[in-house]
Amino acid sequence: MRDLHGRVIDYLRISLTENCNLRCIYCKPETCTETKKDPMTKEEVVAIVNAMADLGVKKVRFTGGEPLLRKDIVEIISEVSKIKGIDDIALTTNGVFLVEKAKELKKAGLMRVNISLDTLKEDKFSKLTGGDLKKVLNGIDKAKAEGLFPIKLNVVLMNSFNKEEIEDFVNITVEKNIDVRFIELMPMGSSVSWIEKEYLSSQEVVKRCPMLQMVEKDYASSPSLLYKLPEGKGRVGIINTISNKFCDSCNRVRITSSGKLKLCLHSNKEIDLLEAMRKGENLQEFLKKNIQDKPEKHHLDKKQYIDKDMYKIGG
Ligand code: SAM
Repeated sequence: MRDLHGRVIDYLRISLTENCNLRCIYCKPETCTETKKDPMTKEEVVAIVNAMADLGVKKVRFTGGEPLLRKDIVEIISEVSKIKGIDDIALTTNGVFLVEKAKELKKAGLMRVNISLDTLKEDKFSKLTGGDLKKVLNGIDKAKAEGLFPIKLNVVLMNSFNKEEIEDFVNITVEKNIDVRFIELMPMGSSVSWIEKEYLSSQEVVKRCPMLQMVEKDYASSPSLLYKLPEGKGRVGIINTISNKFCDSCNRVRITSSGKLKLCLHSNKEIDLLEAMRKGENLQEFLKKNIQDKPEKHHLDKKQYIDKDMYKIGG
């Protein structure tokens, strides 16, 4: 379907839980210790994807919180993989549970994973997330071995934290057929207070690695500008939400783990799908009517930031 600005909406990101086993300090600070019950059931998730597929959505990404904390993640992926029209099923994860889960996820129909990793140094990783870097690195290898392809590593750039590791991340692409994507830290929730000190433009990547050569994007609406080292196996992506808006080609909508439709990541507006379902609304019609009103653009440049952290929305 198209929204009122003529953009084709064919990409759905669904958060399956707000819970996360890591505590990335810019996303889910130490103080957030609550464990939320997952409000959307498997059946509700599948019903929503079914309705979205009928409206033309082709690609679904599961996220969170940490989506692999959902006990029924394999069943959800298996059910969604049977929905006509859905031809791409992806997952964004911190990678910690991939060693144990990658095989069954692949078998259920998962095609690919994005793994979040902001540092390659064990002590820094533990300081940033409270977790164990080795588990993530083993998870990456396992996902690769199971044929979850392409694997994309998502690196959030932070001025004082990982600027000096940019070259190390880029060099991963020399030996491994893994894409490394640098993402600008976005002001939202807790990270608003970090922005002034920690924001680093993704142009820094190109500046530090002049050997990178631009290559063609995967698809026109991709927010990622792609590069490659001359001898590289993998690619290097830069996603500059702040220094270069990509709202004109935005093709996505999000659904939070409590079933709220979010038409723009950077808008506080949320539309309650579960309530609409309870009231007996026709879900497809309800979605269509609301998606048409997707905001034209975000207003980060005017310092209009949302209150929620990413883990509560689904990154
Ligand atoms: N637990 C999963 C993971 O770690 O990938 C999925 C959820 S996590 C919220 C998704 C992504 O959002 C992570 O890559 C994280 O670094 C990113 N993220 C969180 N807050 C962000 C912010 N303020 N700006 C940019 N990226 C952010």
